[in-house]
Amino acid sequence: MIPASFDYVAPSTVDEAVRALTEAGEDAKVIAGGQSLLPVLRMRLATPTVLVDLGKIADLRGVREDGDALVIGAMTTHYDVQRDHLIAEHAALLARATDTVADPQVRHRGTFGGSLAHADPAGDLPAPVLALDCELVIAGPDGRRSVPAAEFFQDLFTTALAENEILVEVRVPKHTGWYAHYEKFNRVAQAWSMVAVAAAVRTDGATITEASVALTNMGSTPVRATGVEQALVGQPATAEAITAAAAHAAEGTSPPVDGNADAEYRQQLARVLTGRALASAIGT
Ligand code: FAD
Repeated sequence: MIPASFDYVAPSTVDEAVRALTEAGEDAKVIAGGQSLLPVLRMRLATPTVLVDLGKIADLRGVREDGDALVIGAMTTHYDVQRDHLIAEHAALLARATDTVADPQVRHRGTFGGSLAHADPAGDLPAPVLALDCELVIAGPDGRRSVPAAEFFQDLFTTALAENEILVEVRVPKHTGWYAHYEKFNRVAQAWSMVAVAAAVRTDGATITEASVALTNMGSTPVRATGVEQALVGQPATAEAITAAAAHAAEGTSPPVDGNADAEYRQQLARVLTGRALASAIGT
């Protein structure tokens, strides 16, 4: 189908973009890479009268260091996250997860911020962002505010963003020296996650000293696997400890039921994939 007609603006600053959104009211929508929004427009599931394109705002692209954090611009593409040397060194989990998103065409157009703002429960970037305790920086008519990932994702396709706000950047605490892996299960190559697990752990060589684990598509938002994290810390970095911790992966989850899998199957997948993610991360 062809989208309903709309006006198009392409501001060159964040302030101009926020002003355009505010003036247009609830009929406006931001467009980033268009990889999720364009199909929605073509199916006429959304019919905004104004599209505010962020593509010309240079400040929103790229990765930089800021003390003990990395700052990733919202318009940084998946492809650029995948190959960025700072992310490889300080937040390898993000690179691992981005590797699994769709195909090269989508990764060249789709953006880091667009994936988070879209908040698809099967999307591959929200869980790693939650696991790494990232802060999401939002610009609106009253200035900027910072929201922890645990508060940003609120429900299915619903975030802390108001209609006239823009996600501008993501602050990622450096996880230098952590072992990380993203284990994704899908039925066909390049498809969305049926379930996936984002895992990052730190060891002192023999013992696990810190652990962060979050699950994709095990609820309406990404879910932190706190039972697994608690079971890992203080344990030796062995296959036995991983197996025991992974048994906690499905605790407190309410996975979706759809044509791919029922809740029980997804919970079993979560346990199996958590074990695999941790084993790959630690190298046991
Ligand atoms: P857009 O499509 O432009 O926008 C998406 C939504 O977010 C819109 O509502 C828009 O208004 C809003 N938005 C975007 N940026 C901002 C911002 N900075 N501030 C406020 N609101 C904003 N994703 C996966 O994670 N895993 C997959 O396996 C996967 N497979 C895919 C396969 C195909 C064939 C396609 C087309 C997409 C797939 N995707 C997958 C989605 C892809 O990752 C998209 O890039 C992503 O979901 C949205 O990013 P975008 O930049 O294209 O955003």
